[in-house]
Amino acid sequence: MRIAIIGAGVTGAAVAYELSALGGLDISLFEAGEPGQGSTRAALGVWMGVVSQKTGGRGWRLRRASLERLETLVPELERLTGKTLSVNRQGLVLLQFDPQEEERWRQLQRRRQDQGYSLEYWSRETLLSHCPQAQDPQVVGAVYSPQDRQVNPLAFTQALLQGAEARGVKLYLKTPVLSLSKPGAPLGLTLEDVNVSPYFDAVILCGGLGVNPLIVPAADPLRLRPVLGQALEIELERTLGLPDFQPVLTAQDIHLVPLGERRYWLGATVEPETEDPDPTSLTALWERACEFYPALAQGRILRAWSGLRPRPAGESAPVIRPLQGYPRVLLATGHYRNGVFLALGTALEVRDWLESQMA
Ligand SMILES: Cc1cc2nc3c(=O)[nH]c(=O)nc-3n(C[C@H](O)[C@H](O)[C@H](O)COP(=O)(O)OP(=O)(O)OC[C@H]3O[C@@H](n4cnc5c(N)ncnc54)[C@H](O)[C@@H]3O)c2cc1C
Repeated sequence: MRIAIIGAGVTGAAVAYELSALGGLDISLFEAGEPGQGSTRAALGVWMGVVSQKTGGRGWRLRRASLERLETLVPELERLTGKTLSVNRQGLVLLQFDPQEEERWRQLQRRRQDQGYSLEYWSRETLLSHCPQAQDPQVVGAVYSPQDRQVNPLAFTQALLQGAEARGVKLYLKTPVLSLSKPGAPLGLTLEDVNVSPYFDAVILCGGLGVNPLIVPAADPLRLRPVLGQALEIELERTLGLPDFQPVLTAQDIHLVPLGERRYWLGATVEPETEDPDPTSLTALWERACEFYPALAQGRILRAWSGLRPRPAGESAPVIRPLQGYPRVLLATGHYRNGVFLALGTALEVRDWLESQMA
């Protein structure tokens, strides 16, 4: 069976890797430019799974699948690629500002316990003993989620691609897919300057925002909207907090991600109505973060960047379903703010769909 995957961001890379474990497939992955050049390049790689409020349905199923798969995937990829994949396993600390929220978190804590995960609710004193950098007087405590994770999005994507190639996937870089054949016609792609047959038995659309031009609006109503995000990399004179405990810290949707060697990522803004980064939003992000962690103000900004998240309009994120009019084309896109996290769960759903097609 000939399979085409379109897009080598984190989603396409994860899909290619998981499909490469199935027998009898000839898989080609087409990337318009370089791997991870889309939304993936801008991401912070934070996984908010156990700490999310999703406890059932598809939202939790995808989250749990990603969390579980990561544990088996890392040794697998390290064996295949011979490289160490760095994962922050110190968990995630979510600062709390409203004492009334405690009961809601306690309920989630009980639910997670039943599901086999742990969450801790910390008083302000406990928080400061573990994370003395969180000095904002308005902070009343924190939720600690030891099983949430953070990965470097580009390194993760590259490892998945390397693993997929080692298992036989053909990767075509700088090879944009210009269009899909018309509904009802033999399933084919318009490709330029590639010596490969353009006909496939199934196509997986993992192109993030680049999926929009491939959809004929009359056939499927899906539209992906860009939601801009900006972030910063900061270097400090000294490590923030305890050197041996460097979890991701999250406060009011702002992540502080430790990278080691006194460097941190800080982000991200959410700017839906524009594709042009607004410097005032970045300044506001920085100032707010310095209120949460005053020692951050001593830091030096090494770089700032922005990216566009693919957000589906009128459907929940992510979109994993057949493209209307094309029973053998699967959409795996629209991951909005959680694509790095949900890539593995998505890839497993794509694998299940393909297996059902092959049966
Ligand atoms: C500032 C910021 C911070 C973020 N932080 C996090 C975070 O902490 N955790 C998290 O989980 N998520 C985060 N995200 C969201 C995350 O980046 C996305 O959800 C995720 O990267 C989507 O991955 P993707 O592979 O689906 O899409 P993309 O990364 O956009 O990849 C799509 C790829 O397809 C290629 N492509 C498109 N069209 C074609 C075509 N026609 N032919 C061939 N190739 C094509 C593109 O070149 C691109 O490489 C963040 C996003 C931003 C902007």
